[in-house]
Amino acid sequence: MTDQERILGEIEACEKLLIGMGEEWKSESVPDMKSLYEKLDRLIKDKDYFIVTTVTDGEIFKSTLEKSRIVAPCGNVTWRQCSKSCTKDIWEPDEILNDICPHCNAPLTGNTIEAENYIEEGYLPQWKAYTTWLAGTLNKRLLVLELGVGFKTPTVIRWPFEKTVSINKKAYMYRIHESLSQLPETVKGKAAGVSENSLEFFRNL
Ligand SMILES: [Zn+2]
Repeated sequence: MTDQERILGEIEACEKLLIGMGEEWKSESVPDMKSLYEKLDRLIKDKDYFIVTTVTDGEIFKSTLEKSRIVAPCGNVTWRQCSKSCTKDIWEPDEILNDICPHCNAPLTGNTIEAENYIEEGYLPQWKAYTTWLAGTLNKRLLVLELGVGFKTPTVIRWPFEKTVSINKKAYMYRIHESLSQLPETVKGKAAGVSENSLEFFRNL
């Protein structure tokens, strides 16, 4: 059985599905990103899932995936914040047409960790939804798919996912990454590393 076939079977069989998406899922220079998100949606739409993504291009929020099941802790460049952080307000893409802060007239900037003063209020409501969901996975058959997450921000997905898998007796994780699929001792026997670009892997799923 190939890794692809095993993963499809495990998606079918799991009670809870946790997906992490990282650097490999940046949309720039990936022409079929929209169809990849839609493929993912078709595969998991009947599952009790949650997606954590460190990608900040906001493409995932334009897909058919359920927004209530996605958190982007590193932010979303299509959401706008004041570049001087004079306010914690965050605006949707079309709310402020001239891209100037209505409070202090400073230019707006993307609401992401790249901003000089990142306003975290943008993702915190969904983070709360995620931690509540995660607490409900403890004694459940949990499948964790970590797709293309490297070491850029390991405290968001990589390290916490390892911990989640190590404390849940019924968890199993696939770590798929072109060059960083190595696993620590703490998840021995409960995880498999797949050394392949996760986009390519997913296209062939
Ligand atoms: Zn301002």
